Amino acid sequence: MCGIVGYIGKQEAYPIIVKGLKRLEYRGYDSAGVALMNGTLNVYKKKGKVADLEHYTDGANLSGKMGIGHTRWATHGEPNDVNAHPHRSGNGRLTIIHNGIIENYAPIKAALQKEGHVFVSDTDTEVLVHLIEEIQSKDDLALEEAVRVALSKVVGAYAIVVMDAQEPNKMVAARKASPLVVGIGDGEYFLASDATPIVEHTKQVVYLNDEEIAVISLDKGLKIRTISNEEISSPTIHELELKIEQLEKGGYDYFMLKEIYEQSGTIADCMRGRLNAEEGWIKLGGIDEYKNRITKAERILIVACGTSWHSGLIGEYLIEDLARIPVEVEYASEFRYRNPVINENDIVIAISQSGETADTLAALEMAKSRGALIYGIVNVVGSSIARITHAGSYIHAGPEIGVASTKAFTGQVALLTMMALAIAKEKGTISESYFQQLLNEFEQIPAKVNEVLKCDPQVKYISKEIKDSPNALYLGRGYSFPVALEGALKLKEISYIHAEGYPAAEMKHGPIALIDENMPVVVIATNKSAYEKIVSNVQEVKARKGIVIAVVTEGDKVISDIADYTIEIPDTEEPLTPLLSVIPLQLLSYHIAVMRECNVDQPRNLAKSVTVE
Ligand code: GLU
Repeated sequence: MCGIVGYIGKQEAYPIIVKGLKRLEYRGYDSAGVALMNGTLNVYKKKGKVADLEHYTDGANLSGKMGIGHTRWATHGEPNDVNAHPHRSGNGRLTIIHNGIIENYAPIKAALQKEGHVFVSDTDTEVLVHLIEEIQSKDDLALEEAVRVALSKVVGAYAIVVMDAQEPNKMVAARKASPLVVGIGDGEYFLASDATPIVEHTKQVVYLNDEEIAVISLDKGLKIRTISNEEISSPTIHELELKIEQLEKGGYDYFMLKEIYEQSGTIADCMRGRLNAEEGWIKLGGIDEYKNRITKAERILIVACGTSWHSGLIGEYLIEDLARIPVEVEYASEFRYRNPVINENDIVIAISQSGETADTLAALEMAKSRGALIYGIVNVVGSSIARITHAGSYIHAGPEIGVASTKAFTGQVALLTMMALAIAKEKGTISESYFQQLLNEFEQIPAKVNEVLKCDPQVKYISKEIKDSPNALYLGRGYSFPVALEGALKLKEISYIHAEGYPAAEMKHGPIALIDENMPVVVIATNKSAYEKIVSNVQEVKARKGIVIAVVTEGDKVISDIADYTIEIPDTEEPLTPLLSVIPLQLLSYHIAVMRECNVDQPRNLAKSVTVE
C-alpha cells in the first residue's frame, strides 16, 4: 500500500507533496515523510498522519523545487519515526520512497552488511537504497543505471522514487506490481501512486508499466526504459477525466458517509448507456466483444478480495440463477497459490475497486498465462487490472476515498447484475418477460436507493442501542447471504466490533451458541423465496433472547412483529435486493463507528488499496 508523491519543477515542492500525500492517505497512515532537494537533501519524517508531519516540520527549512513524499502502511518494521520513509543510503547521498515489499531483502541485507553497510531501520526499503548505493559507488554509475541494476537483483513488488544529492535535477522512478503515475505539467512533473494528487495540476498522465524506469529531469523531460534496458520511445499520454470536487468531502463529516449517499448517482452512472428498459436492451462493451467465448463458457471463475469478494458471491448467485453458467468465487490470495484447474474455456473475472489489488492482479496474470479469457471489473480508470485484461467494464463510481468500501460495492453488484442479464439474454436462459421485468425494476433502483437512505435517522437510533456490544451476528439467505457477510465486514472494519456473517440456516451449526440477550443479530430478510424459512430463523434467535435488527421489504408484518427493530426497504425483484439491503448495513456500521469515536475513513491497521500480498 503506501502513498507516494514526487515533484520536480518551478514551484516549491513541499506544499504540493503534502497536499498530494493527504489525497493518498487512504493508502496508509502509519507515518509520513518528505525529502526536499535544495542544494542539500533535507529529510523529515514522523510517525502518524500527514498532519503530524506538518506539525513536525513547522519552522523547518522546507524550500526546494524537487522532492518526494510518502505515507506509509508498514509491512516490515513497526510504524515509528525511524522506519518511516524516505530512507537514505549509508553515504547520505541517495534517498528513496517505496510502496511494496522487497521479498529477498534478508540475503541482500546480509551481503551488504558484510560490505560494511550499517542499517538504522527494520524496513526492506532501506536495504534497497543501500543496494543502489553499493552498485552506484562501485562502478561510478549514473543514478538511473544504478537503480536499473539494483532492481534486476530484487524480488518483490515496488513503486519507488529515488533522488541523488549529486544529481540534484533528476528523479528516478520505477514500478513492478505497485502503481505509479507520472503527471506532465508545463515545465514540471509529478509522480504519484494514483492520479488524485496530480489532477489539480495537470490532466496529462503516463501510467508506468511493470518493470519500467522513468528518468525525469527538467532539461531532458521524461525518459522511460525497461529494467532490461530497452527504451520506450513514445509512452502513451492519457487525459484524466477526474474532477477535483470528487476528491472533497462536500459538506459531509466523513468520505464514507458522502460515498454512502452518492450511491443513487453512482449506480445510475454505472448503468448509463448500458441499459435501456424502454427499448429492452443491455449492452456491456466487454461482453459484446467476446460474446461467443463468454456465452459458450463452461465455467466462470471470479477472483477478488474483501468487499469485492462479497460482490463476487452475489455475482455467482446472479450468473448461475439467470445465465445458467457454473460460477466459482475464489479468494485471489488462495487461488493463485493453490495450483487451481484453469481451462482455456474458462472466463476469469477479477473484481477490484482500485484495480491494483496485488493478489487479484497476480491471480489474473496466472489465469491469462493458462489461456483463460480474463475480464476486469474495476473502478479506477487506467489501473493495472484494467490494462492487463482482455476485456472489462469500469463501474464508474468515481473516487472512493473512505477505506471501507460502499459505493464501489454497489457499483460492482450493479455491473455483475447487468453482466448476468446480458449473458442470460444472449443465451436465452431467461424468458423475455422476466428479462423485461428485471430491466424495468433495475431502472428504478437509483430512485429506490434514495428511498432507502431515508432510514438514516432510524438506523442512527438503532446504532445507539447496540454500539457497546462486543459482538454481532449478521444472517441472510440466498442473495442476502453475501449481504450479511458484507454488513459484518463493514462493522468490523470501522467500529472494531467483532462480527460474523452467516447463512441464516447455518447458524444452527455453531453460532447459535453465541446468542443471548446481549447479542445483536442483524437479519437481512428481504427474500421472497424461502421467506418462511427466514421467519423461522428469526424466531430461533428470539427464542434465545437475541436482539433482532431486521431489514425487511416494506409492508412486511410478520418479521416486524417478532424483531426488536425493523428497517424497511422498497420492494424490488429478488436478484436486485442486495443493491438496496446493503445500504442500511453501511449506515449502521458508520453510525456505530462515529459513536465509538473511531476514525471512520481511516480505520486502524487498514489501507484501501492492498498492493502488497
Ligand atoms: N515495505 C515497506 C515498508 O514497510 C513499504 C510498505 C508498503 O508499501 O506498504 O516500509
